[in-house]
Amino acid sequence: MTSDLIYFNWHVPKNRHKWINGLSIDLKTGELGKQEFYLAPEPGGHRRYMPLSEYPGLYKDFAVLTTDQKQIMDFANKYGLLGGNLREMIIMKEKRSRYIGESFNKWKMQIIRLKEAVLLHDMIRNNNIKGLSDLIAWGDSCIKYKSKLNIKRNLKKLKKTETIPIYEQLIASRPPGVEHHSYLFSLIPHGDVLAPAKIYLQTIVNQQLSSETSARIILSPDFQESKLRIEPNSLLGAIWLQFARVINGQKEPIRCICNTWFIPKRPDQTHCMRKCRQRAYENRKVNRGKSHERSY
Ligand SMILES: [Zn+2]
Repeated sequence: MTSDLIYFNWHVPKNRHKWINGLSIDLKTGELGKQEFYLAPEPGGHRRYMPLSEYPGLYKDFAVLTTDQKQIMDFANKYGLLGGNLREMIIMKEKRSRYIGESFNKWKMQIIRLKEAVLLHDMIRNNNIKGLSDLIAWGDSCIKYKSKLNIKRNLKKLKKTETIPIYEQLIASRPPGVEHHSYLFSLIPHGDVLAPAKIYLQTIVNQQLSSETSARIILSPDFQESKLRIEPNSLLGAIWLQFARVINGQKEPIRCICNTWFIPKRPDQTHCMRKCRQRAYENRKVNRGKSHERSY
């Protein structure tokens, strides 16, 4: 499956990005949106790269962003704009110039969404029942999810509390002929937080995958065969697809001392290259020397 994804490529402008204070414009109707900050590439061409094969920890880098303009711009300068539904035509009132840009508010919303999902995934994976109990509350006829992220301060659009859509979920297998709705609910023991957390995580991930990825059949170079693949439509789609694969059991990337994310090939591998392992060893030796000095 990994090899299926390496073909996805994306573009980064050669001359970085800038924040512009402008208005979005609907190209069909000419209608103007509200004035806000948009991230737009500086003119000067772009270079292409392969996000999924070059950056196995791309989703982690996105999830650790704060909702700060500087951090968002640094991310975009390294990986490009998010693309997909975030792309808008922007005009600046006085200058009448046009840009392709992405709204600051939409970036913030996407960061918070992934942050929330990664947090949930970590809690589920670590069986952190206490942490999950803070997020999930049982009512009489529904189960609710209460966000602990400071959403109110950042964005009014995202809800702080949501009902977990148990009734709308699909599960991989169920006995034929059984009423789907009552069946799924009956599988969750009252008070359990783990299953609702998994259902909520699945909901968030599926929403993103459905809008930012597509299923495609791809012909082989000799035109004899074809393969069915899921492909990102945008960088945002690549980020969510990468994360979905980790939820699905693919090895999680870890960060090396050189700051690079990598997928360990062996369980005991802690560094991306021999050079970094050597550096870590040297650092430990120096630190041991220092603590030795201090103790005398
Ligand atoms: Zn390294």
